[in-house]
Amino acid sequence: MPDPAPARNLQASHRTLRDASALAEAGLLPPGTELAGLEAVAARYAIAVTPAMAALIDPADPRDPIAAQYIPDPAELRTAPHEIEDPTADAPFTPVPGVVHRYPDRALLKPLLACPVYCRFCFRREVVGPDGGLLSTGQLEAALAWFERTPAVREVILTGGDPLMLSPRRLSWLLERLAAIPHVEILRIHSRVPVADPGRVTAALAAALTLEKPLFLCVHANHAREFTMEAMAALQRLTGAGVVLLGQSVLLRGVNDSAEALEGLFRAMLRGRVKPYYLHQLDPAPGTARFTVPAEEGRALLAALRFRVTGLAWPTYVQERPNGGGKAVVGPVWEDVV
Ligand code: SF4
Repeated sequence: MPDPAPARNLQASHRTLRDASALAEAGLLPPGTELAGLEAVAARYAIAVTPAMAALIDPADPRDPIAAQYIPDPAELRTAPHEIEDPTADAPFTPVPGVVHRYPDRALLKPLLACPVYCRFCFRREVVGPDGGLLSTGQLEAALAWFERTPAVREVILTGGDPLMLSPRRLSWLLERLAAIPHVEILRIHSRVPVADPGRVTAALAAALTLEKPLFLCVHANHAREFTMEAMAALQRLTGAGVVLLGQSVLLRGVNDSAEALEGLFRAMLRGRVKPYYLHQLDPAPGTARFTVPAEEGRALLAALRFRVTGLAWPTYVQERPNGGGKAVVGPVWEDVV
């Protein structure tokens, strides 16, 4: 079994890097990068690169798949004709602040909009950031009251932002309140934390996730190198606490747009006891066009993997339909797999 990727960038900082100057000082920008261009990006979209992710970046590699995910690019200020703010249409499906109810039996709860890292392809990039979106206690009570009076909802999906940015105490309080609602059968959390900031997965956080009701944690990762030894240890703490781990990824040009890269990613997930669940087609958020992989290419990539990897490594390849129409399965179809 190959070892998880070691840390590579010896210049990496011990703190999260949050602006263009900090990235430059850490040696993470390509030679000749103009800081003014990146500062203009930072004025619109948040930047954060954790020490764990900075350590993985090879500054000498202009095609580094980790850098591509986190290092800003002036191209982010150009909006392609097909790109829109709120591409998943959260706003029209928001009955009370922080809740998105798109499907009958499940609903999202976004307790905060801060993340450990800010991904350059994020579909909520217009709203996520270090200062925004923390629901007040009153708003959280209103959201909980909405769940209590909506018996059709059997599953609550905590997302954001990243719910694991909450303190263990606050998270435990919120999960216990949700789990106490009789018709809520399943809780799910979507998070980047186990790979992007594994040190945050402390024993206290793992204990906060230990519930009587089933809790699924959907780990967002896009490249095998994100599964460092520290990330693997964090995942082990979570499974040890009884959390069921699923994986979600985005198909991204320059990050995982080859059968080899996807195979490596899904195999790394399984070694971390993470079942690949969703591979997402990129949502058309503003300034993200450079990451686009056409759906036909994505189908061909998955078809190439069909007999190469165990079915356990096989995610469902999905795309959000416009106007909040929900997820559609992209493929591959029978004829694609020859
Ligand atoms: S962690 Fe998730 S919500 Fe946060 S920036 Fe990345 S993709 Fe967006």
